[in-house]
Amino acid sequence: MRIFETHAHLDFPDFDKDREQIITASQKEGVEYIVNIGVGKESCEKSVLLANKHEQIYAAVGFHPHNAAEYNEKLIRKLARNEKVVAIGEIGLDYYRMRNTKKTQLETFEKQIALAQELKLPIVIHDRDAHQDCLKILDKYNPTKLVFHCYTGDVLFAQEVLARGWNISFTGIITFKNSHLPDIVRMVPADRYFVETDSPYLSPVPKRGRRNSPLHLRYTIEKLAEIRGITPKMVAAQTFKNAADFFLEKQNS
Ligand SMILES: [Zn+2]
Repeated sequence: MRIFETHAHLDFPDFDKDREQIITASQKEGVEYIVNIGVGKESCEKSVLLANKHEQIYAAVGFHPHNAAEYNEKLIRKLARNEKVVAIGEIGLDYYRMRNTKKTQLETFEKQIALAQELKLPIVIHDRDAHQDCLKILDKYNPTKLVFHCYTGDVLFAQEVLARGWNISFTGIITFKNSHLPDIVRMVPADRYFVETDSPYLSPVPKRGRRNSPLHLRYTIEKLAEIRGITPKMVAAQTFKNAADFFLEKQNS
């Protein structure tokens, strides 16, 4: 299986003891590419360093809604010039934890959408309980290359996302009991979904509760295959192509 891991935070301290081993082991397991996702100043800088060090790692740079008050556009502009930076993210709105006011989150989100459009970079969205406000801002800019990372919305919202030509990314949450996500998994077209771990978070069953890593992505792929009624190999191949077209188009042209 060739696997494309679209969302990991391998720069986080959780990996300080064995980062290099995890990266090497992931590659042996078939994880051919990893997009490491920045969430703030330090993590964006570290993501780019990791990407420069490892051929199979790419980086996304952006300020997560939790860090919206520290937004630094100059830094993002500088980092985005690096050829291994393939997206702006993760950016968005989080009304569940609400670490910053709505006003601060909305302002920082909109600035980064405008920047991604200017730089012609794909966008990785974090949306927690803020669907309508996300759409309101996005519909002002009409970005074409966009993914809702760790999708947790309902069927109706998925229809809104898909109608705009955007993508949906699934984490280990689909392996959790009582998840409503199988309905979404069944409705997403074959060319519009990605897989991700969101490591170190959201470890899939049977590793739930432990630190997640790209090594566990295969459990999510197996569950997706079961729900869609295809083989894990087909899920890996579809999501690999989708993610490569989305993140690496510029690299390959
Ligand atoms: Zn994340």
